[in-house]
Amino acid sequence: MQRWQAATRQKPKILLVDDQRVNILVLHELFRDECEIFMATDGEQALQSCRTILPDLVLLDVHMEGLNGHDVCRHLKEAPETRDIPIIFVTAQGAEQDEVRGFELGAVDFIVKPINPVIVKARVNTHLTLKLQSDILRSFALLDGLTGVANRRKFDEALELNWRRSLREKTALSVIMIDVDHFKRFNDCYGHQRGDSCLQAVAVALNGVIKRPYDLLARYGGEEFACVLPNTGLSEAVQLAERMQTAVRALKLEHMDAEVEHVVTVSLGVATIVPTAGTTSETVVGEADRQLYLAKQAGRARVSSCALTDQQ
Ligand code: GH3
Ligand code: MG
Ligand code: MG
Repeated sequence: MQRWQAATRQKPKILLVDDQRVNILVLHELFRDECEIFMATDGEQALQSCRTILPDLVLLDVHMEGLNGHDVCRHLKEAPETRDIPIIFVTAQGAEQDEVRGFELGAVDFIVKPINPVIVKARVNTHLTLKLQSDILRSFALLDGLTGVANRRKFDEALELNWRRSLREKTALSVIMIDVDHFKRFNDCYGHQRGDSCLQAVAVALNGVIKRPYDLLARYGGEEFACVLPNTGLSEAVQLAERMQTAVRALKLEHMDAEVEHVVTVSLGVATIVPTAGTTSETVVGEADRQLYLAKQAGRARVSSCALTDQQ
């Protein structure tokens, strides 16, 4: 078993790109037991697959009709969401110039056709292991130390990525901003350590409400959390926010100094947008923040929401 298999228990995803099906079949035979394999027979298809699948490795033929391998590599390196996908070029024997150009464009390695199975396997395994290790390091750097949910950096990344995707696909994107009510008083009353435990419990409760793999809860800072919900309209986002509100209240964390109820509660601001060229991701976060402020003004422990349209 390879190291990356032991660590993830998931098959790594490889995209094989070649305009000659027979070449794809040879590589497919080599990796089909250990990897989840995707295939593309031209450059356009390869780009499309990379954007949707986000493979762990691409084996990319250089010479193809239309977009060639070098063009595909350039496009992948230009876009933030595909920039980190490692690319191994598959070149014809003796085509040293192709290899030089490939490295200049950001490829991690190359293999020569006709392929030698032992060499290809060794190189692919090396690069899959490196990819896994960098994924693990990155994931630690994107976690919040206290609560274990995503941190602000991860939230910003996920927001940008989903913003661009929603703009392309003309779908709705929602953001929920969540803030613990009268948390300063909680700390003053019960101490900072109990405050920390409270934030941990709140994070678990909020995260328990999120079920879809692309939805993300993050600690936005201090006692604020934020949620990015791709492909989610206003009513669905409000429902989730209401459920979060209920889940936190159900923790029954005593808060004697809170105004109305004597348990910890949260206020939530929800905003939904179908991104257009004239708007940015800050528009939706700003509106969710404004809604959070309105929820606080209206008495806390509630949800306030707004759908942004082109006219606003
Ligand atoms: P509001 O209902 O208007 O949100 O009032 P609030 O007291 O929650 O808001 P405020 O912004 O005045 O205070 C936030 C408090 O959250 C102050 C800060 O000490 C506390 N806080 C922020 N981060 C942490 C943390 O990591 N641990 C603990 N224990 N407290 C924190
Ligand atoms: Mg706050
Ligand atoms: Mg607060």
